[in-house]
Amino acid sequence: MADVISLSNQKKQFLSDKVSQFTESVIREMTRQAMLYGAVNLAQGFPDFAAPAEIKQAARAAIDSDVNQYAITWGAKNLRNAIARQMGVWQGITVDPEKEVTVCCGSTEAMISTLLAVCNAGDEVVIFEPFYENYGPDSVLSGARPRFVKLRPPTSGAGEWAFDEQELRAAFDQHTKAIILNTPNNPTGKVFTRPELELIRDLCVEFDVLAITDEIYEHILFDGTEHISMASLDGMRERTVTINGMSKTYSVTGWRVGWAVAPEKITNAIRKVHDFLTVGAPAPLQEAGAAALSLPAEYYAKLAEGYRVRRDHLIPALEGAGFKCFRPRGAYYVMTDISAFGFDDDVSFTKYLVKDIGVASVPGSSFYRDPRDGARQVRFAFCKKLETLDAAAEKLAKLAR
Ligand code: GLN
Repeated sequence: MADVISLSNQKKQFLSDKVSQFTESVIREMTRQAMLYGAVNLAQGFPDFAAPAEIKQAARAAIDSDVNQYAITWGAKNLRNAIARQMGVWQGITVDPEKEVTVCCGSTEAMISTLLAVCNAGDEVVIFEPFYENYGPDSVLSGARPRFVKLRPPTSGAGEWAFDEQELRAAFDQHTKAIILNTPNNPTGKVFTRPELELIRDLCVEFDVLAITDEIYEHILFDGTEHISMASLDGMRERTVTINGMSKTYSVTGWRVGWAVAPEKITNAIRKVHDFLTVGAPAPLQEAGAAALSLPAEYYAKLAEGYRVRRDHLIPALEGAGFKCFRPRGAYYVMTDISAFGFDDDVSFTKYLVKDIGVASVPGSSFYRDPRDGARQVRFAFCKKLETLDAAAEKLAKLAR
């Protein structure tokens, strides 16, 4: 009896050690704050404009024709065929839709399923920082240790974010299992060049490392930049997992349809994890995905041009308000430097911005392991209607007064 009492005195916490190693998403929290204060939401990266009519029609048609039960766990055949076909068209990569594609609930699930499929405790994963905040918790949940390599902001207006070759090399050793590469990059807007990708390729080959590439912004490119898939480089096809999805290309972030393309052996492992995590992505939306991937080439040109116009709309407003902007070459975010405002840190500044100015953004520190590294940076998303950007610009102008 005494034993029982002493046991019940030491209450279990019911929480895993892993969960204590990361916080909730700051990006999603900022969306909730935008709603709370009625602020213009330039925080979370989701479009506030309509998705293409053709693909909404395809989703309705799929539901009407009763595509309402589970799809094959690793993805509806029509969608896998379309993914394989388009990777050939866009990147010249030959993909077997039966053996090398896994459709998941968004690229978010594709990333965590991949990491869970390939990582063991003690493995290390190289991540460029600033990084999309999911990669940190993803590594922890999969038992791997992240090794961060800095992307440094350009010092002049015309420059690009860049990494140091020696610093990258130093992050690779016998424990390195994978490198996570996001190009076009969130939050910096960097589009990795062929020489940069070749350098990463050479390290992956030398150290026998897997590249996990998040290419979700593949079609959002500016200023003549070109997206190059890591898997298209000599020697990388067999050591690359290419992650992508519908969210950004077709403006349907709420549909949760993404995918991982990988060599057969790795795909088999990803499929097992995916099956037990989620069974499958929404079946009718996968059919709509096959229709989306069949849109003509003009669709993609228009998408990129629409985002270029939005970028060029927001940047002058930010600069006029006192931000220093790092001009993105791809994706739909602008990283800014907030030094001119004289705040202690990014978090207190973004709180002031959402509450008193009426614009939600994301504090730079949520993209760094050490919050101090992001203390002078704030990210704005421009995947919004021009009138939304105008409303934000009007509020931001108060900062300059
Ligand atoms: N990728 C988007 C961003 O960085 C949002 C992702 C998400 O919230 N799932 O804002």
